[in-house]
Amino acid sequence: MSPSTTFHRAAVMPAPGMPIEVRTYPAPTIEEGAVLLRTIASEVCGTDVHLHHGRLAGVPYPLIPGHVSIGEVERVRGGVYDVNGLPISRGDVVTFLDVHGTCNACWYCLVAKATTRCPHRKVYGITYGAEPAPGLAGGWSERIYLRPNTRIIRLAHGVTPDAWIGAGCGLPTAVHAIELARIGLGSKVLIQGSGPVGLSACALALLSGAGWVGVIGAPELRLAAARSFGADWTMDVTQTTDKERLRAVRHATGGHGPDIVIEASGNPQAVPEGCELVRDAGRYVIVGQYTDHGDVGINPHSHINKKHLEIRGCWGSDFSHVYRAMEILVRFGSRIDWSSLITKRYGLEEVGAALADVEAQRVVKAVIVP
Ligand SMILES: [Zn+2]
Ligand SMILES: [Zn+2]
Repeated sequence: MSPSTTFHRAAVMPAPGMPIEVRTYPAPTIEEGAVLLRTIASEVCGTDVHLHHGRLAGVPYPLIPGHVSIGEVERVRGGVYDVNGLPISRGDVVTFLDVHGTCNACWYCLVAKATTRCPHRKVYGITYGAEPAPGLAGGWSERIYLRPNTRIIRLAHGVTPDAWIGAGCGLPTAVHAIELARIGLGSKVLIQGSGPVGLSACALALLSGAGWVGVIGAPELRLAAARSFGADWTMDVTQTTDKERLRAVRHATGGHGPDIVIEASGNPQAVPEGCELVRDAGRYVIVGQYTDHGDVGINPHSHINKKHLEIRGCWGSDFSHVYRAMEILVRFGSRIDWSSLITKRYGLEEVGAALADVEAQRVVKAVIVP
C-alpha cells in the first residue's frame, strides 16, 4: 500500500490566535502495535480555547486539537491489547487516554508516583503537534493515529459515544478531584464553576454520599444543568458580589460554610474566594487552574494557617481516572445523563464557531463530528 494514496482532513490551529484551517494529511504508515481510528466524535474542552490563545507552554503548533475522542478501529497492526488483556480489533469502538509516553522509569513515575508530572509525558491534541509524521494526533480529524503503547479503552456495553463525549475530559478530571476531596458521607460540598469539570464533580460528589452540593457558576444554561445533575443549590457568579456569595453559602450550610470546596472555574479570583467560603478546618481542592491566568493574593494567616485549611492541587488525570470514568458511566449512566451536556455538534469547517461558542459559554459542551 502506498501511504500517499489516501488523505484525511483535519482542523488545525496554525499558531496561537490564527484562524482555524482545514488541512489534509496523508494516511500514516501503521507501525507495529499502532491503531488507526475513524473518528466518531471529539470534544471541545476549555483547554482548547486556551490553546487557541497560546496560554499553555510547550505546545508545538501547528496543532490538531481534540484530546478526548471516540472512534472505530479501522486498522490495527500486530497485537494490541486493552488493560484487561483483551485484543483490540478492527470495528471496535474505543477511546484512549490522551496522555502517552509516561515512562515508568523516572523519579516522578517511580518515586513520587505522580505520573502527571513525568517529563516524557505527551498528550494527544495538546503536546503532539500536527507535524512531523506520523501526525493525526488529535481528534478534530477524520482519522486519529494511535501510536504503540497508547492506553486504549473499549466503549463499555450500554455506554453510548454521546455519553462518553458528553462527559468528555471533565469526567476523568472530576474523578481525580473527587478522589483528592475524600468526601465523607453527609458532608457539604461546594463547587466553584459550572463547566464540564464542575458539573461532573457535582454528580460525583452526590454519588460519594455528600449531604448537600452547591454550585456557583454561570450562565443559567449551565446552572440548570447542575440542578439536573442533582445540585441542591446554585448561584450565578455574574449576578452577585463575593460578599453576597459568602453570605448565601454560609446561610445554606448552617452558618459554618461547606466542609469541602472544589474549584473548577479556571478563574484565579475564585481561589481566595474559595479560601473564604470553605469552613474552618475544611478541605479545598483546586482543579480548574489547568492553564496560567496570572497571580492573585491570598492571606496565609487568615486563609490557611489560622483556618487549618487543607489545600490540594489536582492537575490532569491518569489512566485509572479514565478507566473508572467508564465504570461510572456503566453503573450510573441511566441516572445521570452525561450526553445531555452536548449542546451542539460542529463539522471540521465549523471549528472556529465551536471555539467561539465554548469561550462565550453559549454551549455546555461542543462536539466536533469530523
Ligand atoms: Zn480537556
Ligand atoms: Zn516518567
